[in-house]
Amino acid sequence: MIAGVYIHYPACLVKCPYCDFASGPIPGRTGFNNARYAGLILRELESRRHELRGRLISVYFGGGTPSLWGADPVGRVLNGVRTAFPDQAAALEVTLEVNPATVEGGAGFRSYREAGVNRVSIGVQTTSARLLQSLERAHTVEDGLATFQAAREAGFDNISLDLIFGLPGQSRGQVERDVRNLLALQPDHLSIYSLIVEPGTRFGALHKAGKLHPAEAEAAAAMFMDIHRLMTAAGYEHYEISNFARPGKRAVHNTLYWTGGAYLGLGNSAHSFEPAPEGPGGVRRANLRGIERYLTAMENGASALEMEETIAGAAAQTEFLMTRLRMAGGLPLDEYARFFGGLEAGRVRRAATRWVDSGYAEWAGGRLRLTPSGLFLCDEVVVALMPGG
Ligand code: SF4
Repeated sequence: MIAGVYIHYPACLVKCPYCDFASGPIPGRTGFNNARYAGLILRELESRRHELRGRLISVYFGGGTPSLWGADPVGRVLNGVRTAFPDQAAALEVTLEVNPATVEGGAGFRSYREAGVNRVSIGVQTTSARLLQSLERAHTVEDGLATFQAAREAGFDNISLDLIFGLPGQSRGQVERDVRNLLALQPDHLSIYSLIVEPGTRFGALHKAGKLHPAEAEAAAAMFMDIHRLMTAAGYEHYEISNFARPGKRAVHNTLYWTGGAYLGLGNSAHSFEPAPEGPGGVRRANLRGIERYLTAMENGASALEMEETIAGAAAQTEFLMTRLRMAGGLPLDEYARFFGGLEAGRVRRAATRWVDSGYAEWAGGRLRLTPSGLFLCDEVVVALMPGG
């Protein structure tokens, strides 16, 4: 069994209007500070380490903006994790999400390297100053590019960049420029997401009021295909709906999520998954979402959990379809049959026919794989293939 640890750091300089993560500026009354938060994460780790079995292959500091945490607390937490799980891969992937202009140049990145971080994921989002402003990000386009250079100069040889497409007022040409501008930096990995307008966000409210117009589905699909073409022509593998990697640079941590691996999530709003010993399915857990509730619970020695559910039966089938089909490797039908029975596998095979006939999927070596245009419709395909779909 492969295993990973996710650590959520909730603070950000500003709250971006499209973001529905448990993140943002943290009110002073909570008493939140970087050293205290690291101590509470280590306390949670101590009380929950028994939940994670398997060989540790990745540690991921996400957020929020964990590059605001500082190298010392990050190193302290990482040491705690490494001590708690001595069975670990020699090439343990340790990722830090970074927002532009939150790390002090090359020296700042070197401190994170010395703390044990060996991969950074930088949230550039767009290379258009106008669009970046519309996202109300706390940095400029130049900050994003300079942050990449500083990380490279500090010796990071595994750098991922984030882009968003389908923004209000964004043309296909602008998406292409964004991709080309980032490719010019020669990153090791790119995550390119389409804008999802989430209810409960400021963008969600504006959209509901008819004042915000993200790209229509047809335009977004065309952008997605442009991105696929540009990225694969540049030698990147399109290995998951939103992710592209140079050879050997797939994200180990995220791949673990999509292949049924075990992970332990620490910090407010973090999710965990404990696979069933014989698979498929398992137990999913979610921590308290609000930072104040999390801090109070941990200070009082109470549980950080707010939800626990067993994934079995039809839910496990759906999850298996959802995670496998989003990856380029696709759905291995023999494994599906072993877990859920030959009758079920036959049903999936029949239900897949119309997607194969219309060019959205293909069979290759016993696997159902979505074509690039099918990947854009992955959710629809999963709904059509799931039990009762
Ligand atoms: S910086 Fe990232 S995590 Fe923080 S509010 Fe903006 S999008 Fe959300």
